[in-house]
Formats: sequence, structure tokens, C-alpha cells
Amino acid sequence: MSSDPTHGARVPSRTQVAIVGAGPAGLTLGHLLHLQGIDSVILERSSRAHVEQRLRAGIIEQPSVDLLVAAGLGDRLLREGMRHSGFYLRYDDVTHYLDFHPYTGQYATVYGQHELVKDLIAARIDTRRPLHFDTEVTAIAPSGPTPAVRYRTTAGERTLEADFVVAADGFHGAGRAAIPADVRGELIREYPVAWLGILAESTPAAPEGMYCPHPNGLSVHSMRGPRLSRQYLQVPADTDLGDWSDPQIWDELSVRCAAADAVPLETGPIVERSLAPLRSYVCSTMQYKRLFLAGDAAHIVPPTGAKGLNLAISDTCVLSHALGAAINHGITEHLTRYTATALPRVMAAQRFSALLTTTLHALPGDGFTEALRRATLDRWVGSEAARHELGEVYLGLPFATAPTFGTPIGAGASA
Ligand SMILES: Cc1cc2nc3c(=O)[nH]c(=O)nc-3n(C[C@H](O)[C@H](O)[C@H](O)COP(=O)(O)OP(=O)(O)OC[C@H]3O[C@@H](n4cnc5c(N)ncnc54)[C@H](O)[C@@H]3O)c2cc1C
Repeated sequence: MSSDPTHGARVPSRTQVAIVGAGPAGLTLGHLLHLQGIDSVILERSSRAHVEQRLRAGIIEQPSVDLLVAAGLGDRLLREGMRHSGFYLRYDDVTHYLDFHPYTGQYATVYGQHELVKDLIAARIDTRRPLHFDTEVTAIAPSGPTPAVRYRTTAGERTLEADFVVAADGFHGAGRAAIPADVRGELIREYPVAWLGILAESTPAAPEGMYCPHPNGLSVHSMRGPRLSRQYLQVPADTDLGDWSDPQIWDELSVRCAAADAVPLETGPIVERSLAPLRSYVCSTMQYKRLFLAGDAAHIVPPTGAKGLNLAISDTCVLSHALGAAINHGITEHLTRYTATALPRVMAAQRFSALLTTTLHALPGDGFTEALRRATLDRWVGSEAARHELGEVYLGLPFATAPTFGTPIGAGASA
């Protein structure tokens, strides 16, 4: 069987919605549009194998799970995902468990992003709607009577025309560049640190995710299975992956997560390693003419708060609703308000991620900064009100718009 579901089929020349990128945002949006009878074409630069193996996020908020399940995309996630109520916090030799479930009634589900992407691709193939890998979008023309996407394959360059274009092409994609720089309203914060991540065949350090703020820097201990751990070390931003040997990584993880009330960290073969910069970015204009940005194309959060994948899904919920109203019912006001509807939830997640990042990492600062960091940690551990506030965002703020799964009726439906 070919690894390319399109089996070499040609990209159509026209569609209702052209979607750039087959990450969580593009694939989820394609499915939510399909459920409303709306045609889309998804163009993805990388191969299917690459997209399905790319290790990234792993914590899915309750509202994201609810959406995926309601859209018929959550069967395996519910079967294989691990439900967590909060996270562990270990500092000064003591381990604390912050249980958020009692305050919110919600859970987070641990399920690898690449597994979710596999499920989304399988669902897309079932719908028989076009999904083209190894197809790089080189330019987007968002205005005029017919917006268009220029793309390149081994067969050469061609154009796809569409009623609307959605750039779900990640932080380094082509979409944002199609919005004039002076219109984007960019907000940027770069942190002087990065995360060195490993996937290892070892028992996770704690039954749920654990943050260990330490004078050497943060270590994060998460999991992908009972014998598969995902762990991160705070390292300087200019670190090269080759700077660290496997024994050095384990030594440093062990030092940072050591505590009098805990058994020593179990080590094991490291099967994957990666380096992720820590940055916050917001494109305050998520729409320009007939081009819409979704997910990492519009915003980046540092991985500390586990929000990126979830924001990608919440954007698609808002956007699919707005596109459905416009295409199926001729109501365009939701599209016009896309940025205004989606951005407040993005900013709430930015605020949360920045708070976790500055509180948990050892960052440059004076003694006063350090004392404030410590006071925040103590407050999270000691105050129910503080845990309630933290947990509400960690487990997932409600989406701004309810998803639409209706059958198409009314103006503009051509599928
Ligand atoms: C180490 C790490 C840990 C993380 N942990 C978490 C976590 O626990 N929880 C969480 O919620 N988030 C987490 N994130 C963030 C999360 O992975 C991203 O926010 C998420 O992938 C965003 O999805 P997306 O679909 O918007 O973008 P992407 O997943 O980046 O998908 C974009 C797609 O577009 C394609 N593309 C790009 N340019 C073009 C082009 N020109 N033409 C065609 N296709 C193109 C790309 O190949 C890619 O497949 C983490 C990220 C990292 C790096």
C-alpha cells in the first residue's frame, strides 16, 4: 500500500477551502468542515511518514478531547490515552501533588500528538477528501475575487483556487508571510533557554507529569506509556544537541529531580532527542482578506504550559463554525469576527504559559526575582484558590464557540 493516501492523484484546481498544512490544526479543521459538507483540499509539505512520526505534544485538555470525541475522532484517544488530574511539583527536596480535578471536574489526557495525527489522517482518508503530502505551498494570494495557493510537487508548480484559504502551516510556514508585516501586529518574547527533550525506555519518574524547578534549571518528567518516559532539561538557548551525551542527560535529570521523599530516577535507552526553543509569539491579526491563520501559524507558546496543540484545536473550532456559517448559510459576521473571537483564549493561554515559564525556570534575575518565584511556588502548593485558578487553565478553558456538526443547508453549499 502506498504511504501517500492520494496515490499520486492530482490536486484539484478548485475547492471551497484550501488548507495549508497537515498538522493537528489543518487536519482537525478539514474534518470539522467535512462534517458540515464543506469541500477542502489539504496540502502538506512533508511526507506522510514524517508527519506521523514527529514527536511533540502529549497533553490534551478536556475541551480538546470533548471536541475530538464529538467529531468522531477520539475512539483510540479514549481507549489508549491516560487521564490525569493535575501535576506534581518537586522543589526543595519535597514532592507536592497539585490535583486540579476537584476544582474543575475536568481531566487532561496524555496521548502523543503523533498518535493523534495518525488518527486524523486515517479519518481524512475515510472521508475521501483530498490530502496531498510532499506538496509545498510557495505563495498565497489572499485577495481578489478568487484567492489562490501556489504549490510545488515533483511534477512542477501549479495553482489551487479556493473561496477561502486557511494557513495551518505552523510557525515556519508560508501563511503568515502573506499578511503584510505592518498589519500582523506581532507580539514576541524570546527566552534565553531551550528544552532538551528525550524519549526513553524507562519508568516515568511520577504517576503524572512532574515539574522540578532546581537551581541548575528546570527538569520536566512526563510519560507516553508505563515504560516510556518523555523528559526535558532546561538548557541555554544556544545549546547544540551534540553538547550532551546520554549519560550527561541522565545525570542532570537525576540531580534536578532528586528528593528525600522520592526513589532515584530510573534510566534507560534514549530512543529520541530534540531541542525546542522557548518563545512566545502572537500574530494579533489572524485574518487578512480571505486568508485565515490557525494554530502555530498564528501563535506560539513555550511548551511549559502544554498549550500549543490545544490552541490549534480551539482555533479550528472557532474557524470551522465561522466558515460553516458563511459557506452554508451566507452569514459572514462570524468570519469577520474570527480574530476577536479566537484571540482572547490565545492570550489566556499565553499568560498561563508565561507564568509557568518564568516561575519554573531558573532565569537571569536578581535575588528579588528569585524570591518572587519561590513565593509563587509556595502559593500554588499552599492555597486552594491559587490551585483552582491554575487548574482551570491547565485542564482547559472553554472554547469560545461551540462546534458545528450540522448537515449543509442554504446558500453556497456545493459539496
Ligand atoms: C517539544 C515540544 C513539546 C510540546 N508539548 C506540547 C504539549 O504537551 N501540549 C501542547 O498542547 N502543545 C505542545 N507543543 C506544541 C504543539 O506541538 C504545537 O503547538 C502543534 O504542533 C501546533 O499544531 P499546528 O497544526 O498548528 O502546527 P504544526 O504541527 O507545526 O503543523 C503544521 C504543518 O504544516 C506543514 N507546513 C509548513 N509549511 C508548509 C508549506 N509551505 N506548505 C505545506 N505545508 C507546510 C508542516 O510540515 C506541518 O506538518 C509542543 C511542542 C514542542 C516542540
